[in-house]
Amino acid sequence: MPVSGTSIFPRTYVEGYIYTVYDFIVVGAGFFGAVFAYEAKKAGKKVLIIEKRDHIGGNCYSYDYPETNINVHQYGPHIFHTSSENIWKYINSFADFNNYQHRVLTTARGKVYSLPINLATINKFYDLTLTPDEAGEFLKSKITASSSPKNLEEKAISLIGRELYETFIKGYTIKQWECDPRDLPAEIITRLPVRTTDNDIYYDDDYQGMPSGGYTPIFEKMLKDIPVELKTDFLEKRDYWRSVAKTIVYTGPIDRYFNYRYGKLRWRSCRFEIEEMHLNDYQGVSIMNYADREVPYTRILEPKHFYREKANLSRGTVVIREYPCDDPNEPYYPVRLKADQEMLAKYQKAQSQERDVIFGGRLAEYKYYNMDQVISRALEQVEKLLKRALNNEAEMRRRIAYNNLLSRRFFNNISIEYFSCRLVNYHTL
Ligand code: UDP
Repeated sequence: MPVSGTSIFPRTYVEGYIYTVYDFIVVGAGFFGAVFAYEAKKAGKKVLIIEKRDHIGGNCYSYDYPETNINVHQYGPHIFHTSSENIWKYINSFADFNNYQHRVLTTARGKVYSLPINLATINKFYDLTLTPDEAGEFLKSKITASSSPKNLEEKAISLIGRELYETFIKGYTIKQWECDPRDLPAEIITRLPVRTTDNDIYYDDDYQGMPSGGYTPIFEKMLKDIPVELKTDFLEKRDYWRSVAKTIVYTGPIDRYFNYRYGKLRWRSCRFEIEEMHLNDYQGVSIMNYADREVPYTRILEPKHFYREKANLSRGTVVIREYPCDDPNEPYYPVRLKADQEMLAKYQKAQSQERDVIFGGRLAEYKYYNMDQVISRALEQVEKLLKRALNNEAEMRRRIAYNNLLSRRFFNNISIEYFSCRLVNYHTL
């Protein structure tokens, strides 16, 4: 992956009739951009990546914490999980994955519970010894039925009842999103399953694991043969970049692309406090959530637990406290309040009128995507574009061949006319 901070691309060259340097300039080296670039390059396209940060990988960027041999995710924990066999095979073609299964604990009102809410959580919280069937019936008795829950709070209460909602969800959600859960979209809470069995794995997906060397090597492999301009803000010289590319693939925040012409979409960000400890094990799990509103952080991560198979190789441990915050320069989570949805519709309209620009990924689509969904979107988009490019090229070849034929006929006719004239002139002499 040739990487530089200054411009390295060649002078504009003539390709067919179009004066461009690149088929695609991809803005952003996160999963959407990297997958798109990799596939386009594989199809023989000329691709350049422009990345604002000083590293590739977007928010999945990970590194080995010095002296510890512990891989740390710089922008919060990323656990790969998917139900798609295709996406699982795809990502495994770039890295070996371990068999990590994500389990989370949560501390609420001085006790530690299993999360997502399952049989153990219900029994411990209510001090009962229910069986799975009994727990199902019990939960039903606690639920306030709502035919169409309109927001996160109504949805949560319709799934687990008010007591469990107020203990495990409400405080955490207010810290995470800094707004009333009644203003938030209902589907945020459906990210968490609710179970009455003893299954305590966080995700329902069939495939999950952690890449053995962390996430960064995946991006290094994808971008091995693709030039990357780091520390380069596309929007500072957008006209120039557009003039040297047939198509721009933009993965940054959509509102920023349009200079916030309809206002700023709301994002939540995170601040991380990282601490190295000379302990073997701080909390026994990779993630401990803190449900109480009074605790300022939402969770503590201990990344060595993502790689149990390497536990003997790591020295000490590293813990990271995660504090949700507002930071316009580091958008992580799209908040999607009603005002945001209305603003987004305007941006989407503007986006549909933008020629030769593709918008994709969490930031450009303002969607709470998981990694597998982003990869799947990028694959769909690149396939569509490559097919279109193929059709365009075939059409252009047809036109060139037709033009050649016409001009051949034209010149043939001219020469026939010329010689007939000469002949006529000769005879009239
Ligand atoms: N959530 C909660 N309590 C928890 C964990 C999650 O209330 O202990 C809610 C919260 O609103 C959060 C949402 O569930 O934003 C989705 O959680 P998830 O773990 O999927 O968040 P992510 O991993 O994307 O940060």
